Amino acid sequence: MLEMTAGPPIDSHGYRILALGAHSDDVEIGAGGTIVQLLARHPSATVHWVVFAGSGARGSEAEASVRDLLGGSLGSLHLHEVRDGFLPREWGGVKEILLQVARQVTPDVVFAPALSDAHQDHRTLGELAWQAFRGAMILGYEIPKWDGDLMRPSLYIPLSEETVAAKLAHITQHFPSQKDKPWFDEETFRAVLRLRGVECGVRYAEAFEARKVVLSW
Ligand SMILES: [Zn+2]
Repeated sequence: MLEMTAGPPIDSHGYRILALGAHSDDVEIGAGGTIVQLLARHPSATVHWVVFAGSGARGSEAEASVRDLLGGSLGSLHLHEVRDGFLPREWGGVKEILLQVARQVTPDVVFAPALSDAHQDHRTLGELAWQAFRGAMILGYEIPKWDGDLMRPSLYIPLSEETVAAKLAHITQHFPSQKDKPWFDEETFRAVLRLRGVECGVRYAEAFEARKVVLSW
């Protein structure tokens, strides 16, 4: 195993990060710890954030969560109102939104649902991210769920205990509409982080599907 530390982007601008979530809490669950640590180490980074099923109360939760998580690092926030559970039916509209974002932002890194995600909304967004952002490194994040689709990751980001505690507190605080779902609790999220930590030799980690990575050696 080779441990790597990412430096600043080659053209020395601050990292431009794009976070794509089908639902209001997806990115926080899949990549929240990574994004927080990345911003701590690269304060000049800017994060652009898109939520597709972000209407009503869930949209309000998403906005409050993103603003709290990113503070001054938030570049833009786009909340769309695609019907939850129906992203595949809105395939063309979702792709148009992504292409529009791609005209405005040239991201270095894109966080999107993993291609192997079994949820129809996640999978659709994961596939379309690869069509819209060909120049970026796309990291597919994972979300534990009933479908039982835990992936075999190819990239791990170790998280400190402080980051884990902050991540779990953030999710619990900002998504009260989800608290009655049987899987939505700190134990679930911590278990995934612990398991991924075991796999990469640390206590906790977030894991990603890195289908293509370009190394400059
Ligand atoms: Zn979701």
